[in-house]
Amino acid sequence: MLCPFCHQSDSRVLESRPLQEEVRRRRECLACKQRWTTYERYEVANLMVLKRNGRREPFDRAKLTRGISLACSKTGVTLAQVEHLVDEVEIQVQDCGEIAAQELGARVLASLRTLNEVAFVRFASVYHRYRQVSDFIHDLTRTEGR
Ligand SMILES: [Zn+2]
Repeated sequence: MLCPFCHQSDSRVLESRPLQEEVRRRRECLACKQRWTTYERYEVANLMVLKRNGRREPFDRAKLTRGISLACSKTGVTLAQVEHLVDEVEIQVQDCGEIAAQELGARVLASLRTLNEVAFVRFASVYHRYRQVSDFIHDLTRTEGR
């Protein structure tokens, strides 16, 4: 996104706040230091996750966030950090159209590694036990009665 003041392309996100159907981001231009706010809508509704059993399901940001949050519990990782991680992963995959669940899980792991070692090890151990992160996430986020 170009800076609305100087039209340079490099900006950083100061704050990212998910709202109901959009995310509010406070940005700062790296060139002129001006700040502005964007309201971004997700276009990942069309992103499909290909599960190992061959079925496809729409990418579910909330579900992914819950799964990672649980893996990060009692590690000191904040919800904001988890949201940021999901943002990063989402940005990586949103143009794919379709992504294998294992690939999605691997990207989560790669980001978790840089965030918190305990959360990474915890997530990775379950990942290897289940051999598929989507199963892990599914189990973590399975609601009662489903
Ligand atoms: Zn600027």
